[in-house]
Amino acid sequence: MLDLLAAAVAPDRCLHCRAAARLGAPLCDACRRALPWLGTDGCLRCGLPRACLRRRCPARGAAFSGAWAPLAYEGPARALALAAKEHAARRVAPWLAAAMTARAPAALLAGTEAVVPVPPDPARLRRRGEDHAGLLGAHVARAVGLPCLPLLARARSAPAQHAQDRAGRRRLAAPDVLAPPPATVLLVDDVHTTGATLGAAAGALRAAGARRVVALTALRTLR
Ligand SMILES: [Zn+2]
Ligand SMILES: [Zn+2]
Repeated sequence: MLDLLAAAVAPDRCLHCRAAARLGAPLCDACRRALPWLGTDGCLRCGLPRACLRRRCPARGAAFSGAWAPLAYEGPARALALAAKEHAARRVAPWLAAAMTARAPAALLAGTEAVVPVPPDPARLRRRGEDHAGLLGAHVARAVGLPCLPLLARARSAPAQHAQDRAGRRRLAAPDVLAPPPATVLLVDDVHTTGATLGAAAGALRAAGARRVVALTALRTLR
């Protein structure tokens, strides 16, 4: 209640530069204009904003068959991702989900039957108290008119991705699947970095019976 009163009298602060932002908006107008939007004409296999040669695509051999994000993990968009993880998940998730669903290529969403969020890391969830991918998944599901099925769970914490070599990241342990998934799944997470987390989740869903898994994230690192 106090939070609501405070929000009604104080303007929201931009999560990137701290300037005044419109009520409920995560960024000020200047930072919003500087957002690094990605189009839909890049590689829909790995989500990078370029055409990949098939054998050079970083997602070759991945368990997900398509991936896309509306924003690059840069500038003000990076601040949004960090805020979503750290303290402002409930303010940022609806905005990110709207960007994801309004701009997503129709070919990616075609035929998907349910949204499945990437499961939270148990240690991070204890520390931060918010399952930001789950929150994002719920908003995305509502926007596209699909059920949100939290079918994946992670019993143990994974080592930090930056602490692992490339081969180690590819061997990321698969999450547990709690119930049989539908045939075509829209996997949702906040950031697509190496694709290892999405790949492990997609692999677990495929092993449990899903025939096609596509990944929709809010941000994509450009590497
Ligand atoms: Zn700003
Ligand atoms: Zn590619």
